[in-house]
Amino acid sequence: MAPGSLSALTMAAETTAQELVEEGIQPQRAHERMRQALLSEIKRLEQDEGLDRQGAIQAIFPGVVLEQDTLEVLVTSLISGSNVLVLGPPGSGKTTLARAVWDLFPKERFAVADCPVHDDPFSLIDPNFAAQVPPCPYCRANHGNVDIGELDAFDPNQIDPADVPVRQIRLREGFGFARVQGSPEVFPDNLTGTVNLARLEEVGDPTSPLVLEPGKILQAHRGMLLVDEIGKLPRGTQNVLLQALQEATCSPAKSRETFPADVVAITTSNYADLGNITEPLNDRVSNVHTPFPTTSLANRRIIDQSLNGQHGTVHIPGPYRDGAVRLVMRWRDRIEGGRDLSEVGSNRTLLDIVRRTESYAMMAGDPIADPEDFHRGARDAMMGRIRARSGDGFEENRSLVERFVEEHWAKAGKDGAVDYWCRFFQDDLNGDEKKGRKVARALRETQDQDLDEIQRRLRQDGDPDLRTFGQYVQRMENVDRADTARILPGIADALDAFDAFEATKA
Ligand SMILES: [Zn+2]
Repeated sequence: MAPGSLSALTMAAETTAQELVEEGIQPQRAHERMRQALLSEIKRLEQDEGLDRQGAIQAIFPGVVLEQDTLEVLVTSLISGSNVLVLGPPGSGKTTLARAVWDLFPKERFAVADCPVHDDPFSLIDPNFAAQVPPCPYCRANHGNVDIGELDAFDPNQIDPADVPVRQIRLREGFGFARVQGSPEVFPDNLTGTVNLARLEEVGDPTSPLVLEPGKILQAHRGMLLVDEIGKLPRGTQNVLLQALQEATCSPAKSRETFPADVVAITTSNYADLGNITEPLNDRVSNVHTPFPTTSLANRRIIDQSLNGQHGTVHIPGPYRDGAVRLVMRWRDRIEGGRDLSEVGSNRTLLDIVRRTESYAMMAGDPIADPEDFHRGARDAMMGRIRARSGDGFEENRSLVERFVEEHWAKAGKDGAVDYWCRFFQDDLNGDEKKGRKVARALRETQDQDLDEIQRRLRQDGDPDLRTFGQYVQRMENVDRADTARILPGIADALDAFDAFEATKA
């Protein structure tokens, strides 16, 4: 273990800055912690798990389905010490990505024991660090040997580290992490916090932690600030954020004192609001674009990652999952969605189509979904994502989406079923038509067989044609052999219903 790392310490919960110095601990700003965490995690994945650079970058964001380029730009931006603006259409995974960055952020820190904004002890004792991240007024008054009237006279060289009480903290919501949902109602005070004047009169000490009501920026001090839909913030609020990112300080409303604000900021915006972000603020953040995945396989991964491990009573056969992908991709290609319709083609809709297909099958008491379940599921999911500001607009959008679903669901379902079958036909059968016919026959036979019989055929000494397909299903849908036996008839139904087997006939 490296000297100076937190886990090497066996310090008591309460200690002093003197001990940190003796342990060789170095002060680190939030961005440096982030950089170090990313670099060491990538190195670990490469060395211990044998992953290459690309694989390691994918692996540090489990559950995030985005193109490799996007993740690389994000990682290099963070390593370079930048704040980030994640840009993409609604439902493209912006917030999920921002949350994933917080999951990576190292949470264990040392803080001045009684500080209302959990200051870094080095802000009190290290002149270089104090110049970048000054201690809060409370720490200056209580541990800085200066009077309330002359807080500016604080000099870290004059402080004895043995006099600075320290405790270990774990960053969490409100203490090193804060989230702001952008809207016109978020005022500067929400970010800066405020000084409670009634309390001030009562307590008499402007530096007392009782007097301060910390806003989102101070709550995020030493950790991460997540600002969703930053373009929806009023200009004044954006300016407060700009100051914090430029100077690492923040002044609460009604207070003349400045507080430290050392944060990594991850912000998000859709393209429509991009023009509302002030230029100086936009200049302070690195842009990371999160477009929808362009290949059907990448879109399919979004569904699989979300459904993995969620075994309901009904299994949605892979061909319908591919059908949902095809339908949503058609929408994205064809429809110029204004704001009211931009959610209709989102990743959320993609998942919703699959879940609602499942719901219709469950309501009908069927163990397996059928094409009509898919049709209704797609219709409900896409209609459910229409946003509108007027009744007329809503009716117009409704009929547009309804016409789209009626016109395209069957074709998309067929394309999905063909994708499903052809992927197997090419990858596992190398395009051998004769084998294709044999597997299709073996698969259709499952429609009239009971579970025991299908299970017997999947065994080592069973039916080699059905086994080959069973292995493909296990791989694609991440299920074991017992589940495979259960879902094969449903897959055969779906492929038959959409004539997918015909696609590989000469
Ligand atoms: Zn403090």
